[in-house]
Amino acid sequence: MIVLVLNAGSSSQKSCLYILDDFIPDTPPEPLWEAHLDWTVTQEGGILTVKSNDIKQQIEVKQRETALKVLLNTLITEETKVLESLEQIDVVGHRVVHGGAKYNQATVITPEVKQAIADLIPLAPNHNPAHLAGINTIEEILPQVPQVAVFDTAFHTTIPPQAKVYPLPYEYYEQGVQRYGFHGISHQYCAKRTAQVLQKPLKSLKIVSCHLGNGCSLAAIKDGICIATTMGFTPLEGLMMGTRCGSIDPQIPLYLMQKYDLDVEKVSQILNQESGFKGVSGISADLRAILKAIASGNQQAQLAFNIYLHRLRNAIGAMVASLNGLDVLVFTAGVGENSSIVREKTCAGLTYLGLQLDLAKNNTFSVDDNIAAKNSSVQVLVIHTQEDWEIAIQASMQV
Ligand code: ADP
Repeated sequence: MIVLVLNAGSSSQKSCLYILDDFIPDTPPEPLWEAHLDWTVTQEGGILTVKSNDIKQQIEVKQRETALKVLLNTLITEETKVLESLEQIDVVGHRVVHGGAKYNQATVITPEVKQAIADLIPLAPNHNPAHLAGINTIEEILPQVPQVAVFDTAFHTTIPPQAKVYPLPYEYYEQGVQRYGFHGISHQYCAKRTAQVLQKPLKSLKIVSCHLGNGCSLAAIKDGICIATTMGFTPLEGLMMGTRCGSIDPQIPLYLMQKYDLDVEKVSQILNQESGFKGVSGISADLRAILKAIASGNQQAQLAFNIYLHRLRNAIGAMVASLNGLDVLVFTAGVGENSSIVREKTCAGLTYLGLQLDLAKNNTFSVDDNIAAKNSSVQVLVIHTQEDWEIAIQASMQV
């Protein structure tokens, strides 16, 4: 089965093509073709990078309206060609950030599903419109090909009411103000992969999955089911992130508005784009730049790092409390996969759980490896998250 995966955002579009057999390997294969369209590199337009047939090609793209068609055209033309015709595609899987409370699994896209994604635009204003645009373009080019929405919120729909309902007047919950959680595709993939790596049934494991990238979230997973997560109504809640503050006293935004006469947009910008590592350090949202500054003695960078770790350890503690125990701590995404210092410092605060890191392994691990010490009562895995592969599998199972 030939599966096209599309991850359409406001500033970039990522896409890849997999060929799936009946046998699904534990370790994801390389995609046959990969494309990344980035609108943030130049003022004039987008840069499309395509990788296939062992070559990498870059193309300038001027118009957003036709960009996806240009991107898909590289599947069937010139050096990047991997298909004779786009009609060979059996299914298209779309990453959809917000599926609300209703969609608890990947779902074949119908007019009703499209309407639901449109209705959720107020809750995901940067993402859901881009997803819809992608779905409509595919519909136009390949009207016969089934499309499947794979929701980032779906994995969290199992979270029980006490972890989902905010202690606000109940009528707001009835109108949709609740914890949705995000990064669900990544957490779900990591949980499955953890069971494979440890060769244990997923149902026997209590897992805390730490997705630490520019956005950061934790998920508490028991019997393969998510029972708690740190992100909430929006991806702003929970851990400190690159530019997002995470959880703060909810009175603070109200105080800022009153005291400095700020409007909603400005406060939203402060909390989402000017806080986190960037806001505290005044240097960067990127942990690599923070660590460099710490090495040269920058105190603000050190403070930002300390806050990040303090909040991360506390939030892991909260997830462990929800699980009533911990078998596996999983690190994934840009920071989780690459920063041995974050893993070391985080684990150093969790020895009360009987967790012992193998420090040498933490520095020299291979992908999808267990870096816990032999005598550790909690396993510590570093998993390379493969959201596109997970989307491809879930989409293929719907048709
Ligand atoms: P996104 O959340 O946008 O998908 P990623 O998961 O790719 O982002 O994570 C990006 C972040 O990972 C970067 O901002 C950077 O802080 C961090 N990162 C990547 N490589 C390293 C590294 N070697 N050491 C520390 N941090 C890293």
